[in-house]
Amino acid sequence: MADYNTLINQFHDIASNPAKQLRHYLDSGKKVAGVSPVYTPEEIVHSMGIVPMGIWGADVELSESKRYFPAFICSIMQSIIELGIKGTYSGLSFVMMPSLCDSMQVAAENWKWAVPSIPVIYADWPHNRSQAGHDYIVATHRRQIEKISEITGAEYSDAKLSDSIAVYKEHAEVMRAFSQKAGLCGMKAADRQAVFKSAWFMLKEEHTALVKELMETMNPSDENRINVLTTGILADQPDLLKAMDELGFNIVWDDVAHESRQYYVEYKGENPLDILANKFCGMKHCSLIYDYDKTRIGLVIDEAKLYGAKAIIYIQTKFCDPEEFDYVFLKREAEKAGLPIVMIEVDRQMTNYDQAKTALQTLKEML
Ligand code: SF4
Repeated sequence: MADYNTLINQFHDIASNPAKQLRHYLDSGKKVAGVSPVYTPEEIVHSMGIVPMGIWGADVELSESKRYFPAFICSIMQSIIELGIKGTYSGLSFVMMPSLCDSMQVAAENWKWAVPSIPVIYADWPHNRSQAGHDYIVATHRRQIEKISEITGAEYSDAKLSDSIAVYKEHAEVMRAFSQKAGLCGMKAADRQAVFKSAWFMLKEEHTALVKELMETMNPSDENRINVLTTGILADQPDLLKAMDELGFNIVWDDVAHESRQYYVEYKGENPLDILANKFCGMKHCSLIYDYDKTRIGLVIDEAKLYGAKAIIYIQTKFCDPEEFDYVFLKREAEKAGLPIVMIEVDRQMTNYDQAKTALQTLKEML
């Protein structure tokens, strides 16, 4: 059996080389589709024999995409379009883009004109999640299936979708267990992130097997580090992760959309398309989903207490309105609960993390 270092290097290699992964799947004769954040119904893509690969943009300078967006749209969406225009995603059969925030909606529309060589399929979600919303999701999935067949010639069956749902269900369970174990074992923030990020570039059954193998090599640590909970949309900035490691922070749990937030909701129901609709209708706890009671706030506080976090690090993607709204509520409740909270603003174009490091240093001194 491979040791921890060998396995974690494998995760880092995959997380930092999506182009190599794309080439690997294309060379093995598979079709690959890009799935942009968040909650895109990857299970459908997977069930039709196509590899879903996450597209979350990258830390690149934005030039071409500026012709399509005003400056105040988040850099995740801007960099997806930038990379699309520059040919980074060439080889993808299509991309799927959801519609949960204003930035996503304009990105999907812009893609059609900016990257005409790769078709875009909308992954519409209703904010109204009543029975009508549920039925709308099922009808939308049927349209997506037709479109995927039209573009790739791939066939759909309920039986195959049920199999793929089983694959994704197991993956979610393993990732929840991994997140807990990573906290107990004092795993470095950069290593932990590589495990989550690589999931976006691998078939989930392959990722599940590799994570299970890694977990066998992880042991509880009694090192004296500072337990924290991270929350936000994306937390993959190498300099930020390095600063957290250098200052001795230990992520005991995260509520990050790119990491654990996608794994919260269970798959329930009989018919596979209903299961996917139930999954979305059952989601709360997310800034992107209409949730009158703002249940994310209570959940984050409860998680912080459950896993023994001494503070909350709010990783705010610049120009992400839904997250900016939630910060106000979370700060108030965290202060009531006696949990220090710090907001770190991040951006796909950021090169200097000195301010973030100072904020983390200050947090450490307060604890
Ligand atoms: S980071 Fe925020 S603004 Fe950008 S796509 Fe995600 S939810 Fe929308």
